[in-house]
Amino acid sequence: MTTPTQPHRPADLPDKLYHFIGGAEVDSLSGAVFDVADPVSNKPYATAAAGRAEDIDRAVTAAHQAFTDGPWARMTGRQRATVLYAIADAVEAQQERLAEMECFDTGLPITLAKGQARRAAENFRFFADVIVALHEDAYSVPGTQLNYVLRKPIGVAGLITPWNTPFMLESWKLAPALASGCSVVLKPAEFTPLSASLWAEIFTEAGLPDGVFNLVGGFGEEAGRALVQHPKVPLISFTGETTTGSEIMRGAADNLKALSMELGGKSPVVIFDDADFEAALDSALFGVFSLNGERCTAGSRVLVQRSIYDEFCARFAERAKSIVVGPPQEPATEVGALVHPEHYERVCGYVEIGKSEARLLAGGERPAHLPEGNYLSPTVFADVGRDARIFQEEIFGPVVALTPFETEEEAVSLANDVSYGLAGYVWTNDLRRGHRVAGAIEAGMVWLNSHNIRDLRTPFGGIKSSGVGHEGGHRSIDFYTHEQVVHVAT
Ligand code: NAD
Repeated sequence: MTTPTQPHRPADLPDKLYHFIGGAEVDSLSGAVFDVADPVSNKPYATAAAGRAEDIDRAVTAAHQAFTDGPWARMTGRQRATVLYAIADAVEAQQERLAEMECFDTGLPITLAKGQARRAAENFRFFADVIVALHEDAYSVPGTQLNYVLRKPIGVAGLITPWNTPFMLESWKLAPALASGCSVVLKPAEFTPLSASLWAEIFTEAGLPDGVFNLVGGFGEEAGRALVQHPKVPLISFTGETTTGSEIMRGAADNLKALSMELGGKSPVVIFDDADFEAALDSALFGVFSLNGERCTAGSRVLVQRSIYDEFCARFAERAKSIVVGPPQEPATEVGALVHPEHYERVCGYVEIGKSEARLLAGGERPAHLPEGNYLSPTVFADVGRDARIFQEEIFGPVVALTPFETEEEAVSLANDVSYGLAGYVWTNDLRRGHRVAGAIEAGMVWLNSHNIRDLRTPFGGIKSSGVGHEGGHRSIDFYTHEQVVHVAT
């Protein structure tokens, strides 16, 4: 039995979370732990081993040994793909358990948590296929030279991940790193370490050799920083906040590490007056309020052409007010609990700032029926100016800024007038304008008259403050491998 303030506890909830190093669960060498709480009761449900530099060193040593002495890096693509397919099957077999854990630990609505295993499994199947189909290059200079290219896994990959959709985002890094033949050390987010504890069992059952996958829990400032600075880790794939990304770049500089940085966003949704109004409205609502608004590609600034602005604001606010906020495990819930009280306070702080900067149309407070837990009603601000903090800064919660524009030029200027450049969305039935505006938006990814659905072959990543480097398809393999050319005289 659950109440709005009592979370539904998964049946097999562990009360201690360990590191996983060299094929075994281990505690921190120092014995340090930290409490992990759920976002509904905000009460600790487990302690987790808090990794420090010595734990990272132990994990990197195990990973390095597996890389240099073990079979994984020397297997054929097909052999590794067989294991990756087994991992995908094992992930899907854990679908219900994973959904329950993710919902409990992150506060994501159960309906959305249920999609996470399928997406994670797809990442493994996709990169298994990519590695099998990967072509190798050769260049001949007739009568003089044959140049061929050997592709080699880089070594121990350091993977640092955030708390929003944690398991799926971990899979987005684990799958290509493992497909490439790297060994890995994963440092999951400290707010949501529960689902990462499933990986050890999944990998072991699927036949991944010991030491190829290692996990060290703990805080970014300790475990994360030690991973970034470890000399035997030649690359870091990071997803998280922009300011953390800068710090990681500084920390990685001394060892000249390869970096892939998937960072924050403040993505625009540009809606012209000739757009399919209902489709744009549905998509804009989903884009900012699904996943509790804790989505890197959230369309958190909705720019609407003046002639339809008033109607759009009214309809958007009315729909936002009818969104069901509730306990994450309830099937009817559309917005659950924000991940952690610290994050909740930050988001609520932006709501207060917004009240002094713009016109509040919906939400702006805790729902009356949910007196505890990190709940916020979907919050809609209108007439948000381009200098407003709620226009410029990533909030990462169920809060949206609506802003009118008159012309295409003004729309593009507003869309681009932020430091971020992750995603953009354009709605218009004018074909030429659609392509023109999509191309003019400063973002790594733009969806034209469409939803945030990805094709795994396409580049993923942001520009400006939203990231450095792109992953997706062969680009991920490029990141986790290096190419060595052999020049042969003929
Ligand atoms: P965060 O930067 O606070 O933490 C991310 C990870 O980095 C955590 O594991 C944390 O422990 C670790 N970390 C923190 N400080 C560190 C340091 N000094 N050295 C090494 N590691 C450190 O981010 P978050 O709050 O967990 O996640 C939310 C952010 O992630 C948002 O900004 C969101 O936009 C972004 N995000 C981006 C994408 C993308 O693909 N671009 C996807 C999801 C989330």
